[in-house]
Amino acid sequence: KLVSRELKETPTMVRVGGVPVGGRGLVVMAGPCAVESEEQLLSAARAVKAAGAQILRGGAFKPRTSPYAFQGLEEEGLKMLARVREEVGLPFVTEAVDTRDVALVAEYADALQIGARNMQNFRLLKEAGATGKPILLKRGLAATIEEWLMAAEYILDSGNPNVILCERGIRTFETATRFTLDLAAVAVVKENSHLPVIVDPSHGTGSWRLVLPMARAAVAAGADGLIIEVHPDPARALCDGPQSLHPETFDRLMGELAPVALAV
Ligand code: PEP
Ligand code: MN
Repeated sequence: KLVSRELKETPTMVRVGGVPVGGRGLVVMAGPCAVESEEQLLSAARAVKAAGAQILRGGAFKPRTSPYAFQGLEEEGLKMLARVREEVGLPFVTEAVDTRDVALVAEYADALQIGARNMQNFRLLKEAGATGKPILLKRGLAATIEEWLMAAEYILDSGNPNVILCERGIRTFETATRFTLDLAAVAVVKENSHLPVIVDPSHGTGSWRLVLPMARAAVAAGADGLIIEVHPDPARALCDGPQSLHPETFDRLMGELAPVALAV
């Protein structure tokens, strides 16, 4: 298999904009769950860049549980992301939720995110892969590590080697956290694959307080990076406010990560 470490010993390095992910160092992607306005995005982007994040995140197409919840600004949001990229100087990753949007998202984005709910949408994987853009592949809510790696295999098989895996928590019987963040998956992936793997402690816990220890733990477990939700005003966020870090808290977290990253 193309994802397998038996086939390729050396870690794969994926470039997002100019930023290398995998192989060495820790890469932090941060920004709001959803792009809500240019002002909100610019404020978040400036804050995460100042704190040391290297890649901006933000959803323009949102996969929401309820059809009545905010669904994203779509192309308007992509345009805001592109303008803020120029203004702040951060490449960005954003989600494509449907094959019909892949070409549009790829026109703007530095990397395409495939969300947990679409991990086994095989047509979407192939179409996203065919753009040649780096793909951030989130683990499905109820996917085994093997199924997740096979989803990555679809992208590699489409001729695109630039896949970043993202552990974002799985469904278990536990209700104290939004999902159960499977940090052992990081070590398992590292053992079996050459692909970079990052961790999303925001969706993995659902609570901003828990993001801090789980981010440190992810780095200690050997993750190549983190993706973290940061909002200038979490209480007013249109999406995932309870798990979004205030910019000051994000800045504090970045300071805490440095010594952990040095130790691994
Ligand atoms: C997100 O990153 O905003 C998101 C919806 O993530 P997931 O697909 O992991 O739920
Ligand atoms: Mn979110």
